[in-house]
Amino acid sequence: MILILLGPPGAGKGTQAQRLEDKHGLIQLSTGDMLRAAVAAGTEVGRQAKAVMDRGELVSDDIITGIISDRLDQPDCKSGVILDGFPRTEAQAEALDRMLADKGMKLDAVIEMKTDDKVLVERITGRYTCAKCGAGYHDKFLKPKVDGVCDKCGGTEFTRRSDDNAETVKSRLNAYHAQTAPLLPYYRGKGILKQVDGMAPIDEVTAQIEAVLKTI
Ligand code: ADP
Ligand code: ADP
Ligand code: ZN
Repeated sequence: MILILLGPPGAGKGTQAQRLEDKHGLIQLSTGDMLRAAVAAGTEVGRQAKAVMDRGELVSDDIITGIISDRLDQPDCKSGVILDGFPRTEAQAEALDRMLADKGMKLDAVIEMKTDDKVLVERITGRYTCAKCGAGYHDKFLKPKVDGVCDKCGGTEFTRRSDDNAETVKSRLNAYHAQTAPLLPYYRGKGILKQVDGMAPIDEVTAQIEAVLKTI
C-alpha cells in the first residue's frame, strides 16, 4: 500500500505516520527527516539543503525526487509506505507518478489533513522529538507519560528543529499554500483524495485515518 499524508507544516503528518508504521508495518518516508539526516551527516545534498530549509523554502524538485526514488528501491518498502512531506509541488507529484509506473507500484490514497492555519504556529513551536528513537511530542498536546522520559524507548534527551520558529513557519505556510495546496485538485481529479479533520484531537485523527484505510 502506498499512502500520501498531505497537509501544511504542523498538520500532524509525522505523528500519524509514526502510528501507521507501528500499527500496519508500513514504512514512513519523511523527506524532511531524510534531509535533516543529510544535513547532520554533512553530505553535499545536506549542505545545499540547509540554507533553503532554514529560510522555510522548498528544496529543489530534482534533489527530492532522486532521494525518494532511491529509497523506494530498498527492499523494506515492499511492505508499503507512507509518504510524509512528499510530494510538495506539482512537478514532484508528476515525477512520483512516473517513478511508481516505472517501478510497477501504485498510489492507493492521498489523505488530506485539513487544518486551520491559526493552530499551526502553536503546534510547531511546541514540537520536540526523542533524540534516540525519533518519537514526536508536544509541550502541551502530546506529553510523555513521565516528564522528560520517552514513552517508546526510555530516552531522556530531546531535540527541537532549528526551523520550528514562528518566523520560518510563516514562509513554510506560504510555500504550502502556493506550491503544495494545488496538489489537492490534482489528486481529487484522479479520484484518490480522502480527507480527515486535522483539527480533532490526535487519537480522533488516527481513528478517522483508520476508517479511510478500511475503504481502500
Ligand atoms: P507535521 O509532520 O505535519 O509537520 P507533526 O506530526 O510533527 O506535524 O505535528 C506537529 C506538532 O503538533 C507535534 O508536536 C504533534 O505532537 C502535535 N500534533 C499533531 N497532531 C495534533 C492534533 N491533532 N492536535 C494537537 N496537536 C497535534
Ligand atoms: P513540516 O512537515 O513541518 O513542513 P518537513 O520536515 O516535512 O516539515 O520539512 C522541513 C523542510 O524540509 C521544508 O521546509 C523544506 O525546506 C524541506 N523539504 C521537506 N520535504 C520537501 C519536499 N518534498 N520538497 C522540497 N522541500 C522539502
Ligand atoms: Zn524515544
